[in-house]
Amino acid sequence: MQGYKHILLAADFSEHSIEVAQRAKNLSQQFQAQLSVVHVTENLPISSSMDGQVMPFDIELNEELMQLTKQRLAKLGTELGIAEEHQWLVIGSPKIEIVTLAQAHNVDLIVVGSHGRHGLALLLGSTANGVLHHAQCDVLAVRLTE
Ligand code: AMP
Repeated sequence: MQGYKHILLAADFSEHSIEVAQRAKNLSQQFQAQLSVVHVTENLPISSSMDGQVMPFDIELNEELMQLTKQRLAKLGTELGIAEEHQWLVIGSPKIEIVTLAQAHNVDLIVVGSHGRHGLALLLGSTANGVLHHAQCDVLAVRLTE
């Protein structure tokens, strides 16, 4: 099997994400590869559930959410022994940002879960599917079951 030099874990912080993280960590140890982690935050306008109206973009609330997300990422990074400069928090579309980041940093294996927060047990989630179709490197979709 081809050895990998740089493995990128795509972490969505869903209930199964630790399983995916463990697999990425094991592979990085097996191949003595650099392990990086990315979380992508989708920057959506916040809408009111009362009348469906889209409310103005709330910068303060977004900054607060970004800080919380940063802390979660740092916690996961520490647990996996990933240095801060390899913990990446990006805003945008998960599938696009994961693939773009992988290319920019010469990642040769992306590790995703077969599904995340929105997925079903036996189907490939849309992020996993998008990454699989657009990545220029290998992609491992860790099969997650309920
Ligand atoms: P999904 O396609 O949303 O069911 O998610 C499948 C997998 O894609 C997850 O298990 C994660 O590995 C990855 N993923 C989904 N959303 C994100 C995100 N916002 N940031 C990083 N990785 C993600």
